[in-house]
Amino acid sequence: MKTINPFEFSDTNKRYYTYDYYLKRRFGGKCFKVPLDGGFTCPNRDGSKGTGGCTYCSERGSGDFTCTPDMSITKQFEICRNGLLKKWPSEKYIAYFQAFTGTYAPTERLRELFEEALSQKGVVGLSVATRGDCVTPETAKYLKELSKRTFLTVELGLQSVHDETAKRINRCHTYADFLTGYNMLDGVNRCIHIINGLPGENREMMMQTAKEVAKLHPEFLKIHLLHVLRGTALAKQYENGEFDVMAREEYTNLVCDQLEIMPPDTVIGRITGDGAKDALIAPLWSLKKFVVMNEIDKELVRRGTYQGIYYDK
Ligand code: SF4
Repeated sequence: MKTINPFEFSDTNKRYYTYDYYLKRRFGGKCFKVPLDGGFTCPNRDGSKGTGGCTYCSERGSGDFTCTPDMSITKQFEICRNGLLKKWPSEKYIAYFQAFTGTYAPTERLRELFEEALSQKGVVGLSVATRGDCVTPETAKYLKELSKRTFLTVELGLQSVHDETAKRINRCHTYADFLTGYNMLDGVNRCIHIINGLPGENREMMMQTAKEVAKLHPEFLKIHLLHVLRGTALAKQYENGEFDVMAREEYTNLVCDQLEIMPPDTVIGRITGDGAKDALIAPLWSLKKFVVMNEIDKELVRRGTYQGIYYDK
């Protein structure tokens, strides 16, 4: 395979730098992410910046696969790891504070939660999902210290660099706010999340977001497809015909275009969405995740391109 795949950071047919490839090199094999809920909320839910949350966000704040926060971190970890063990025997785990905004609490509380997670058997690292406007200098200092002791990744939702889109989806922060938090975490592994298909965005706007991300040269990137989930504000807008979702071919072509301009050494943690299946209203083609991933692989082969081929340093 390697002989016909020109992409440097791959030992399969993948023409982009997969998270699996990264983990294999860093930890000698797969590590499973154990989703946890630290009992956080978000500034655009609790009224400090807004209410209602991002229009696309589910009731559990992207924590649809976690246990509930009334359980201790140790208990949540145990339940989730036992579930994972039935399917995939593994000895290495990354504790993932996935639900809501994982740094939206005083640093002392973060310390308690993160240290408890790190003390679990088999945990080799920590991932924390948050927003750029919820990183304070004090939090950043603690996270920098933590990243010297463990494999830490801070996942920062950007979604789009366009402030008019951020307003439309009730994100309650600007691109400049994102950058302030992002820059404070210099020296820590940062994973930027972007979403393709947001209401009001065309291909140029989504490419603009990708170009800005490429300039930032993050260690990790997750590319999501907008999912319309039952019970969200976005679902109402969709049902009212206020916007349409992307077609599969349009999405796969766009992702290939975005991969081509990314730095080749940015690890791609995700190239499509992975929401709660029962709650998905549209686009239903995204339920066949492996088909989407295969289409992206095939398109890159058809073009004869790969991640970073057009990266402009
Ligand atoms: S910041 Fe994240 S968890 Fe909070 S409402 Fe927005 S998407 Fe949901």
